[in-house]
Amino acid sequence: MNEKGNISIHTENIFPVIKKFLYSDNEIFLRELVSNAVDASQKIKRLASLGQYHGETGDLTIDIVLNEEAKTITISDKGIGMTADEIKKYINQIAFSGATEFVEKFKEAKDANEIIGRFGLGFYSAFMVADVVEIQSLSYQDGSQSARWVCDGSTEFELTDGNRTYRGTDIILHINKDSEEFLDKGKIQGILDKYARFLPIPIRFGTKTTSEPDGEDEEGKTKYKSVEVDNIINNTHPAWTKSPSELKDEDYINFYRELYPYTFDEPLFWIHLNVDYPFNLTGILYFPKVKNDFEVQKDKIKLYSRQVFITDEVKDIVPEFLMLLHGVIDSPDIPLNVSRSFLQADSNVKKINTYITKKVADKLNELFKTERKGFEEKWNDIAVFVKYGMLTDEKFAEKALDFCLLKNTNGELFTLTEYAAKVKDFQQDKDGNLVYLYASDLAGQDSYIASAKQKNYDVLVFDSPIDSHFVSLLEQKSEKTQLKRVDADIIENLIKKEEKASLELSTEETEQVKTLFEKAISRDHMKVEVDALPTDALPVTVTMDEFIRRMKDMAKTGGGMGFYGTMPDSYKVTVNGNHPLIKRILNGENQEEQQQLAKQAFDLALLSRGLLTGAELTDFVKRSVSLIG
Ligand code: ADP
Repeated sequence: MNEKGNISIHTENIFPVIKKFLYSDNEIFLRELVSNAVDASQKIKRLASLGQYHGETGDLTIDIVLNEEAKTITISDKGIGMTADEIKKYINQIAFSGATEFVEKFKEAKDANEIIGRFGLGFYSAFMVADVVEIQSLSYQDGSQSARWVCDGSTEFELTDGNRTYRGTDIILHINKDSEEFLDKGKIQGILDKYARFLPIPIRFGTKTTSEPDGEDEEGKTKYKSVEVDNIINNTHPAWTKSPSELKDEDYINFYRELYPYTFDEPLFWIHLNVDYPFNLTGILYFPKVKNDFEVQKDKIKLYSRQVFITDEVKDIVPEFLMLLHGVIDSPDIPLNVSRSFLQADSNVKKINTYITKKVADKLNELFKTERKGFEEKWNDIAVFVKYGMLTDEKFAEKALDFCLLKNTNGELFTLTEYAAKVKDFQQDKDGNLVYLYASDLAGQDSYIASAKQKNYDVLVFDSPIDSHFVSLLEQKSEKTQLKRVDADIIENLIKKEEKASLELSTEETEQVKTLFEKAISRDHMKVEVDALPTDALPVTVTMDEFIRRMKDMAKTGGGMGFYGTMPDSYKVTVNGNHPLIKRILNGENQEEQQQLAKQAFDLALLSRGLLTGAELTDFVKRSVSLIG
């Protein structure tokens, strides 16, 4: 047999177009060809199991051989093979059935994946890196004649008898000048690591030469056949393809190490995903220790389709907050080769999203219910994740209300319901609002925390960047509840009660104190108020309004409050008119002494807020020394 012909497309040569257009993604040629080899190998297995193939399936290992000298890469499988007629049908025609459409549409396509998937150009992606592609194939069918197909990237092909003696297919790529980077062992190894690590058929890769002579080189020396002798590079049965009942904790942890050899922390726990209706999906999601630096950990989930690696950009397939998780998702039902906007609208993708969210919430709930102690121990590591989930996913938030925990300054943990019950009797203000007090910095806000505790109030800890957003969510989710940071006002104002101390100063004295302090402070954005507080409360307190501070915090962590971000800090200075020190200042011998004492009291308030620095701190120290003297 010797046949020449034209690949059935009625347009000009489109290979240069493909080649040029797909250049940036050209490494996927290997994924496509190896996937084809895997498919062909799985088909022979299936035929054997259906009784339609009576021979031995034997060893199905796929060989990838790099021959730097000959500038070829060969992918050899022992799959079903193709007859000459099948090559004509599958390679010449089917692959290009969409070619005319392709030429019209390629301008809109955004990446190589999109084109390859949409137009069935898997095999032809070989021409991104090869000038000449040769197929040697022998079909599994009894009495088949081996076939050889060669194409130089034009629309012409040649089909002759081949030389394969064992069932299967060799795809031989004669690497083109522009793609010689692919003749590097490390490069191919890297691509295989990425795409082939968990393929279901063993893959062997190497560049070694055997002792089988293979002609002579220019100098007349014997050349040897390049055949693979290296190790298998893939794990054909990764943990996610097994049933959860087959796996121990150790197996999950080992698989985590296999996935992330450079991550040293152990995962906290994991979820084994397994559905086959209404879509097919398997996978394992691991909860890493998230801490506060949640931004840097994204893009750890790897997406596979029947064990072929597709991408680690799982945005759109996995809800945003779950991108903090690590692990693998494998689904043949996710349309991999379409544009992002299509993906977002795809109903399977939406269902997958919902399913994963539900699974994760259920797992957390189960852990909380069955081993609360262990859950509490892990809380520090998963808090950011749960809060992020609640902030970004309405459905998750609903479920998480049951297991989301609040931590107070004593390190005790409460569910939302438990906490409301705990503070209900003490922390209700005169209007019936429950007020939750919180601190964001235990050391820096110590004097404010102490003032709250003096009143028997409880103080929560919200100290991660996400908490400025979470606090607002908590307020929305809890009825008649307000959250106030301990330094947002004097404690008497944070939780206003009916009974209030009366001011022991006359109106005139009050004015006098106010003026005195205004003069002593002489700072912009500091408003002085004289208030009637218990005599054992602090004489002067500096506070910053909850609302403005919250808006500013959110602006800092990108909450779209840009306007507030540009506002200067503005504080309130509360002078306790009932404190003995204030009376002493009023009764001071002269104006100078009054000013000095007022300044001293104010500086102490600044100091406890960490606002006293630089020259002012130096002045304060000097003044204190002279006062002691
Ligand atoms: P797809 O794999 O998406 O069908 P390809 O262009 O990659 O598209 O391949 C076209 C067809 O050629 C395949 O469907 C298969 O029938 C056949 N084929 C490709 N590679 C092999 C192989 N290694 N062994 C047997 N058949 C193959």
